[in-house]
Amino acid sequence: MKQAEFLKIKNLTVTLQEKAILKGVNLIIRKGETHALLGPNGSGKSTLAQVIMGLPPYRIKNGSLIFEGHNLTKLSPETRAKLGIQLIFQNPPPLNGISLSTLLPYFQNLHKDNFVSFQPFIFEKEIQPLLDRDLNKGFSGGEKKIAELYQIVQLQPRFLIIDEIDSGLDLEKLNKVIVFLKKQFLAPDKSLLIITHREEILRYLQPTTTHIMKDGQLVFSSPNWKKIWQQIQKYGYKAY
Ligand code: ADP
Ligand code: MG
Repeated sequence: MKQAEFLKIKNLTVTLQEKAILKGVNLIIRKGETHALLGPNGSGKSTLAQVIMGLPPYRIKNGSLIFEGHNLTKLSPETRAKLGIQLIFQNPPPLNGISLSTLLPYFQNLHKDNFVSFQPFIFEKEIQPLLDRDLNKGFSGGEKKIAELYQIVQLQPRFLIIDEIDSGLDLEKLNKVIVFLKKQFLAPDKSLLIITHREEILRYLQPTTTHIMKDGQLVFSSPNWKKIWQQIQKYGYKAY
């Protein structure tokens, strides 16, 4: 039997300064599923991730986003986080005067009713020198990703969107991250939406469904990520 729908996106059209960036996206993600999102640069992948999280500056022109029966378009990013949605940014912005240490009480408050600790953090040594610095300010690409992951461990999402976690991480760290994601998120009550250009991520996580986004639309979806990968290697995104 099919699992319950977690996220249901219907005919989503999103604009930015009157220009359509997403043009009628339909997507259903069920509990326990891993979805991969591929597509050329500028096709709208990060926009979709940020719109699910409710982040500015995008405007929803049409369509709906329903998460476990909640109409997300009416909810703030913080409420969405309380429902269990989180995003690991492709390029997390630097914050003045805010460090991971100052954010800890906020994380704990968000889950004060149901706080359960995750497994020990996989980058315990690497995170220590970053805890009291302004978040992401002068962080290297890899340090930004480690800081993002640290926040995820605190925030305990059930629905995690990951936007190109590979950028900035060396291969050894990337492998650690993939193992962590598999352990933590390939579970019947959680789901992953992962935006990536890396074969090893697809191979290790074995997505339930892989989608191709082009020019603001999901132009192809299939359970066979290997076939999609081969097509892209051979013909580029022209194949779709
Ligand atoms: P992807 O993640 O697939 O590379 P994005 O979602 O980042 O694509 O971008 C989709 C399109 O929207 C691009 O043409 C990009 O230039 C534009 N865009 C996204 N965010 C902004 C922004 N904040 N300001 C101006 N243009 C933007
Ligand atoms: Mg992007």
